Amino acid sequence: MSVSGLHIVVTGGGSGVGAACAQLFASEGAKVTIFGRTEEKLAAQSLSYQVCDVTSPEAVAVACDRARGEAGPIDAVIANAGAAESIPFAKMTPADLQAMLAVNLFGVSNVWQAALPDMKAKGRGRMIAIASTAGLRGYPYVSAYCAAKHAVVGLTRSLGRELAKTGITVNAICPGYVETPLLERAVETIAAKTGLSLEAAADTLKADNPQDRFIQPPEVAATALWLCSDAAQSVNGQALNLSGGEF
Ligand code: NAD
Repeated sequence: MSVSGLHIVVTGGGSGVGAACAQLFASEGAKVTIFGRTEEKLAAQSLSYQVCDVTSPEAVAVACDRARGEAGPIDAVIANAGAAESIPFAKMTPADLQAMLAVNLFGVSNVWQAALPDMKAKGRGRMIAIASTAGLRGYPYVSAYCAAKHAVVGLTRSLGRELAKTGITVNAICPGYVETPLLERAVETIAAKTGLSLEAAADTLKADNPQDRFIQPPEVAATALWLCSDAAQSVNGQALNLSGGEF
C-alpha cells in the first residue's frame, strides 16, 4: 500500500484532520504539499506548502501549478478544507448558505478540477473529499453545512462514475465528530448558547457516537492512506461512514 514518491495535495493542511493526513502521508514517503490560507499555520507543519484560499478557482490553479513546479504532477488530492457555522434555519441568510457552499463544496471541486489533468495523463489518481456524516444525515442548526456536505457526496458519486475508466478513484470520507479545532469551536458555541459547561456541551455531541468518544484525526488519515493504495482500486464513488456506528 505504498504512497512513497507520490505527490499528494492536502487542503486545509495546517490543522486538525488535514495536518494529520499530511503528516501520515509524509511519514509514508509521499511528497506532500499542503494548501491553506494562513502561512504561519502551514509553515508550522514543516512540509511544502502553498498559501491559497480554496474558494477561489484562480488561486487554486496557481497553487497547483506552483506545487507541480516543486514536486511534479499531482497524484492524489485530499480536499479537506472546510468550515462549519451553526445558525437556526429561520435566521440563515443567502450569504450564510453561500459561505458554506463556497468552502465545503466549491473548495473541493476547485482543487479536484485543477489536479484532474495530471491524473488523467498518468492513468491513475485519487480524489478524496473529507465530507462528514453531515453529508449523509441531517443535524439541527447546521442546515447550510449539511447541504454543502450532501452536495460533496453527490459530486463524489457522480464523478466516480464519470472517471471510472480512467484509473482515478473518487471517494468521500464521512467522519462523525472528530477532535479538532473545528469541534472545539462548535463546543464553545453550544456552551455559549445553552449555558452548559464546555464538558457538558462536548458530551451532547459525543452522545451521537455509539462508542461515546470523539474520533481522532489519525483515524481519518489512515482511511485516506488506504484509499490511496492500490488495494483500494475498486473503492470508487463511495461515501465512507466513520462514525462508530452512528447510523
Ligand atoms: P479545522 O478547522 O482544524 O481544519 C479546517 C482547515 O481548513 C483549517 O486549517 C482552515 O484554516 C482550513 N480552511 C478553511 N477555509 C479555508 C479556505 N477557504 N481555504 C483554505 N483553507 C481553508 O477542522 P477539521 O475538523 O480538521 O476539519 C477538516 C475537515 O473535516 C472539514 O472539511 C470538516 O468539515 C470535516 N469534518 C470535521 C468534523 C469534526 O468534528 N471536526 C467532522 C466531520 C467532518
